[in-house]
Amino acid sequence: MKRREVLKVASLALLTTITSGYGATNSVMHDKVKDKSSVNNKKNPKVVVVGGGWAGLALAKHVKVFAPQSEVVLVEKRDHFVSCPMSNEWLVGLVDLEFLTHSYIDAAENNNYTFLNATAIDVDKKRDILITSEGEIAYDHLVFAVGIEYDYFNWAKDDKTLEQRLRNEYPAAFIPGSEHITLKEKIKNFKGGNFILTVPKGNYRCLAAPYERACLIADYFKHNGIDGKVIIMDESNHIRIKDKGFSSAFEELYKDRIVYMPSAEILEFDLDKKMVKTDFDEITFEDASFYPNVKAPSILEKLHMTKKTPFNRIEADIDQYTYKVKGINNIYVCGDARPMGFSKSGNTAFSEGVNVAQMIADEIHGKDPVWKSPVTTCFSLLSTKPEREISLYTEYRYTKKGGMDFKNNLTDEAWKTNGLGEAKVAYSWAESMYKNMFA
Ligand SMILES: Cc1cc2nc3c(=O)[nH]c(=O)nc-3n(C[C@H](O)[C@H](O)[C@H](O)COP(=O)(O)OP(=O)(O)OC[C@H]3O[C@@H](n4cnc5c(N)ncnc54)[C@H](O)[C@@H]3O)c2cc1C
Repeated sequence: MKRREVLKVASLALLTTITSGYGATNSVMHDKVKDKSSVNNKKNPKVVVVGGGWAGLALAKHVKVFAPQSEVVLVEKRDHFVSCPMSNEWLVGLVDLEFLTHSYIDAAENNNYTFLNATAIDVDKKRDILITSEGEIAYDHLVFAVGIEYDYFNWAKDDKTLEQRLRNEYPAAFIPGSEHITLKEKIKNFKGGNFILTVPKGNYRCLAAPYERACLIADYFKHNGIDGKVIIMDESNHIRIKDKGFSSAFEELYKDRIVYMPSAEILEFDLDKKMVKTDFDEITFEDASFYPNVKAPSILEKLHMTKKTPFNRIEADIDQYTYKVKGINNIYVCGDARPMGFSKSGNTAFSEGVNVAQMIADEIHGKDPVWKSPVTTCFSLLSTKPEREISLYTEYRYTKKGGMDFKNNLTDEAWKTNGLGEAKVAYSWAESMYKNMFA
């Protein structure tokens, strides 16, 4: 039997046993967790990772690398992966959907773990059981790498109709899926006038992406003869990242096409009149994409694993050194759901997934886990003809007070293009990351 067939059979066996219902028990799996004190002495400890994004994919792969004797299951609610990084480029036709789309089956097969296409719903912490839409699954170590959800509270409060209209009519497109398709259609069909993009306060997903998106949409309008302006309503009083690179692009490349508004917090929406109000202005728009605050996903709230931080209303409540949920020794959170002030970005989440995999492997091997810095590296395109890019590299350090600080923060904000007018490095970075997660 070929390896592909063996893995298929293994996955099927897993599914067959766990699809017997949430209340049903899987005797093979539950046997593993009867004696909690022996978790680290087990021959084949079971590591369950919820969330197949940048953090979860890195984690599932690297637990197998650092502790090959472990059994790793990746639980992901989507049946295929679509990348957010490079999706701004897809919005304006620089890359096709195939470039962004990848197979979880390939990732699992190539990296020796099991992929379970299911939604995590609950955890029985006493029995170390994860409850999913497809049944129950036992774990010795459980990691939530579940990314973010939107938090419309500051805009909509309890007005569910407004929240629903904002979600459907003006999606943020910062979580992959239909929202991106809707936004692409909006850009393509735009007839002219004001196109609003908002930038939330707090630590939102990909600090650079809203500014990059503004540049690429303005560039698209320019090259497609669309008499449109991109209005960036930034809740902060300054461009949050690569300030020099973006502000010079707004000023020199898009003087007539981008209006940057700092401290522009929307206090009122009139969606029927297509108008928003701030403290100072009333702005009408022809179309928009409203990016709200972000928060840790609701499953973590339901499990009482969240807290308020200086950055956001709802973030995961973990020990910042070990990534363990406070008070629970074998449940971790990493990636964008974490509370630390690290950039909520794919490279950061990926490197953190590798680091947490190492810490779990260390525990499995009876060693003390050692914290390592995640690495943020981020390329932003400013224009298409020629392609120009700016970039950033950051590491972090764990402070004596138990917090985080920046280390080795480097930015290159002079617009870069190679001799062929291409932003080669951005594409190569994405390709190498996809290869690392899926090949
Ligand atoms: C437009 C845009 C551009 C970006 N550009 C860059 C860039 O250039 N460079 C960069 O480094 N980063 C970039 N990012 C940021 C990057 O996409 C995120 O930081 C990264 O995806 C975070 O990884 P994660 O694993 O924490 O979360 P995610 O990638 O969101 O993964 C979380 C996964 O968990 C799954 N999940 C959630 N809940 C459950 C559940 N209950 N059960 C099962 N599965 C669940 C989700 O379906 C999802 O697949 C960009 C983002 C956007 C939106």
